[in-house]
Amino acid sequence: MTPGTLDLPPVPDPSVAGRAAVDARRARAAVKRALSAGQRGPRDVAERAWQEPGSPEARLRVSEFLGARRGMGPKRVESLMRELGIAPAKRLGGLGGLQRERVRGWLDSVDPSRRPRLIVLAGPTAVGKGTVAQYVREHFPQIRQSVSATTRAARPGEIDGVHYAFVSDADFDRLVDEGEFLEWATVHNKSRYGTPRSSVQAALDEGSSVLLEIDLQGARQVRESFPDAVLLFLAPPSWEELVRRLVGRGTETEEERERRLASARVELASQSEFDATIVNADVAEAAREVVEHILAAEADAGAPPAAERSARV
Ligand code: 5GP
Repeated sequence: MTPGTLDLPPVPDPSVAGRAAVDARRARAAVKRALSAGQRGPRDVAERAWQEPGSPEARLRVSEFLGARRGMGPKRVESLMRELGIAPAKRLGGLGGLQRERVRGWLDSVDPSRRPRLIVLAGPTAVGKGTVAQYVREHFPQIRQSVSATTRAARPGEIDGVHYAFVSDADFDRLVDEGEFLEWATVHNKSRYGTPRSSVQAALDEGSSVLLEIDLQGARQVRESFPDAVLLFLAPPSWEELVRRLVGRGTETEEERERRLASARVELASQSEFDATIVNADVAEAAREVVEHILAAEADAGAPPAAERSARV
């Protein structure tokens, strides 16, 4: 080292760094402009961001990306980001796998050519309907699920109004009399379960498809009342696996288990009444298949024009 000089690392030329930052900002602004003008589709921008981490698309803030869509004011952007579980300052390229899936789901849901559908997920007891529905709820929040009313007691960990609305027999009778249920049934010859009509209608009116996780009797009622509904049958990989899952759950008494196995035999035989069968060998895979069926139904070419869209339930 020469006496009298300081051994400092080379200082980057501020004009070069500044220029790079300006260029990057300009490139981001160009992406935003192209998005707002409809010259580029949001899906294309998002996929590019996720494939190329150093791209202007990847550096675009999620709030700017969502805000570029017509009709998306700052308030709506803020609430949507909360719904999608994305922090306000996040950039597109910085989103994790789950967040990316949610953004993809939102993009599907705002496609103007789609129409909301009523979807039934039924299948034998213990096949994993609840788990698959839960996965759909967490990963594809744009697909609504209704909270059923039931006369059975809450299991440990179940929350009133979240998992079910737990009601008395008298309340259930009243709801039936008032026509509040879109369908209802006594399941496993024991408790009654029903789908509330008003919240399902509200979700459809808002443009969201609604997934009903219900039993076979309910599925048949829906088929009768809404021929347009899509009925999905969730099947176990095998009968042995179904019995194993039922016994493994350990939440039922011996008598209850027998009753449920009897229902399962009848339910398995009904598969041909459904529009499609999904085998539940892997929860994430089955959930993805459910969502694919929903998206295909929403995009169905036979869709009526917008004015007739909302199915009356
Ligand atoms: P669990 O008591 O184990 O939560 O549910 C028992 C069965 O009731 C499951 O097969 C579930 O799909 C069905 N179920 C839940 N909600 C409804 C509903 O609103 N209507 C009908 N028909 N079945 C339901």
